[in-house]
Parts: sequence; structure tokens; C-alpha cells
Amino acid sequence: MIAKYAGIAPKGDLIVLLKLAEKLHKRSFLHVNSTREGGGVAEILQRMIPILQSLGVDARWEVIEGDPTFYEITKKIHNALQGNPETITREMWEHHFEVNKANAERINLGADAVLIHDPQPGPLVEFRTGGTWIWRCHIDISNPSKQVSKALGRYADKYDGMIFSVAKFAQALPIDKFIIPPSIDPLSEKNRELTGEEINEAVERLNIPGDRPIILQVSRFDRFKDPVGVIRAYRMVKKYNDCVLVLAGSPATDDPEGAAVLEEVKEFAAGDKDVHILLLPPFSDRDINALQRVADVVLQKSLKEGFGLTVAEAMWKGKPVIGGFVGGIPLQIVHGVNGFLVNSVEGTAFRIRQLLNHRELAARMGQKAREYVRTNFLITRQVRDYLAVWYALENKGKSVFVL
Ligand code: UDP
Repeated sequence: MIAKYAGIAPKGDLIVLLKLAEKLHKRSFLHVNSTREGGGVAEILQRMIPILQSLGVDARWEVIEGDPTFYEITKKIHNALQGNPETITREMWEHHFEVNKANAERINLGADAVLIHDPQPGPLVEFRTGGTWIWRCHIDISNPSKQVSKALGRYADKYDGMIFSVAKFAQALPIDKFIIPPSIDPLSEKNRELTGEEINEAVERLNIPGDRPIILQVSRFDRFKDPVGVIRAYRMVKKYNDCVLVLAGSPATDDPEGAAVLEEVKEFAAGDKDVHILLLPPFSDRDINALQRVADVVLQKSLKEGFGLTVAEAMWKGKPVIGGFVGGIPLQIVHGVNGFLVNSVEGTAFRIRQLLNHRELAARMGQKAREYVRTNFLITRQVRDYLAVWYALENKGKSVFVL
């Protein structure tokens, strides 16, 4: 399987990856998160587990289960870590812990390395029996609620290491910390090359008009993704450039706020027939791929963003992305080189018009965008980094780091 990435992923990444996989051959590697579909974490795990298995690592993916109250609490925790004022009561923390306790009884947590994704399953560490435990934070904690990060800190201390996507998210903790940005799989249905026919079929079925430029944002319906700000920017552009706006999203099972945000967005769009709000079913990967390829301008106007896989996805398709100057987006967009970073609705509208009115500039930036993703954000690099962290933690203090 890994041979398929030769000629696509950087050769150095593949060589180190194969060496590490040899060292960790037949060892067990468990990943735990809170949803099998929707959002970036599930997106990566769906692709990464088979790659790890094909490398001879005994990889497994488990999903914790909870009642609706649990997901309401974990969404509040998520929002508070991303800087929103939220009150999380002692009862809520207890419920968070109890649901994890029940999951620890249900899930086999025995593995040589256990990688826990995000705060939802964080307390599972209380039930660790052995192996190397690593907590992976995917969200934007540049300005977290002190109360919530302190409350989670008591779990963090029990891990062997923590992984953040962006250096400025790293917290002062007495455990080893690593910076590993997420990645996309160039061979997945979401990112593979599509034929013209495949693109046309999808775009026609989704009723997207082909006679005017298309502005696209693909995101869960979440206020941190600022869908209303996107509509505002589109309205400013529309006065000068006739265009259509596509907002594509799908529900995540661990996000109870999605339906309410979708309603807000629909209301704000106020029946504008050139605003296409698409509620796609889970695993609409080829449709998203087609939309990203057919779009003239791709936005990710987030107000907070752990990384923003949608940015790398569109860049890989040769699009210069206009993204919010937050979280992991500036890691991907080099402003003015392979895309634009924005801080406001007005700035977004200005950059949309710049790209629509200067097609050669957009094409040049798009080429650079693809190359930037190829060098930095392909899944082979991320698998390499995860194995390296596991190997490093397991061999801490020994001078074995010779590949
Ligand atoms: N996504 C999808 N369908 C949708 C909306 C999003 O498949 O309707 C995918 C998107 O292509 C990306 C992931 O979900 O791969 C979202 O990851 P990102 O890091 O952008 O944001 P998150 O949802 O994790 O905050």
C-alpha cells in the first residue's frame, strides 16, 4: 500500500516511515476518539488505520459512546477550550468521567501505544494498564478557558506525552510535548484526481450552476467556521462580480449544535437562490472532491481552527485558499504566496475579488499551494511522525535512536 505513495509523497518521508515501521512491527497501536464520521479527526483515522496495518503495525480504532448529555458537555468543553465563556459544573465533569469509565469497561484498552484524540475520551487514561499513552489535541487552544484547561490538566499529567498541531497551542505541562500537524491522504476518494465526467456528474446532481464563478466553503455547521461571515463576504462581492456561493456541510455525531447553526445560516441566506446550502450525507467524499475542484475560490473563514483539513484539501487541488488568520490555518497558507490570510469580512471580500479578477495570479498561487501540501501535509509524513513519537517515548533515556 505504501508503495502507491512513491512519486507523490516526499521520498525522505517514506524511507523514515518504513524504517520506523520495521522497528514497531507487529506492535499494537490503539486510537480512540468520539465519532466515526464527521470532522477532521475521523477523516484522518479512516485513512491512517489501514496504512498502519499495511505497514505491519497492529493498529486499531475505537470510538467512545455517550448519552446526549455527554456530547452537550464535551461540546461545551470544546467551546471553552477554543475561548468561549462556558460554565462546566462539577456534576458535568463527573458525568464526563463516568461515561469514560463505562467506556473503559467496554473497550479493550490494552495496547503497546494508545493515542487518545481530543478531550472527550481524555479521562480514559485513569484506566491505563500498560503501554505508552499519548494525548492528541486537535483543537485551537491558543486562548483556552483557564478553568477548563486546569480541570483537564489533571488527566494530562497522567499521559506520557502530548501532541499539538501548532506550537503556540502547547501548554506548560510536566510531560513531553510534540508538534505534529494533521495531514490529508492524496489517494483517498476526497483527494484523488477526478475525471471531468466525474466532476460534472457531481456538480449537476448537486444543482450547482456552471455559468458563474463558484465560491466554496466546506465545513461542519459550527459558529467557529463563521458561515454567516462567509455569506456577508459573498454579498459584498456580489455587488461587483456575479457569482454563486456554496456552503457544504454534514453533521458530526459528536456535535449537538450543528442543526441550530444550520438553521441560523439558512435564515441568514434568506432564500438567495445563488446561495447553495448543501447538507451532505456522511462520506460524500467524491462530491466534496468535485466541489473543491470546480470552485473558483475556496474559503475557510474560521474564527478558531485546530488545523483546518479543508484548507490542505483545496490547496492540494491547486486552489489558493482564503483562510482566517487563526489556529493551524497560517501553518498552511503563506500569505500572498499560496493563498491569503484574512481577519475580517471586508478583507475576505477584497481577496475573493482579487482572485476572481486576476485568474493568472490565482493559478500561480494554486500551483504553489499544491506543492506546499505535497511537502508538508501528506498523510505519510503524519504516520511517520506518530510512529516517531511512540518510538521516542518508549525508548526515552536509552541511546537507541539509530534508524
Ligand atoms: N467534511 C466532510 N463533509 C462535510 C464537511 C466537512 O467530509 O460536509 C470533511 C472535510 O472535507 C474535512 C473534515 O471534514 O476533511 C473537516 O476537517 P477540518 O479540520 O477542516 O475541521 P473540523 O471539522 O475537524 O473542525
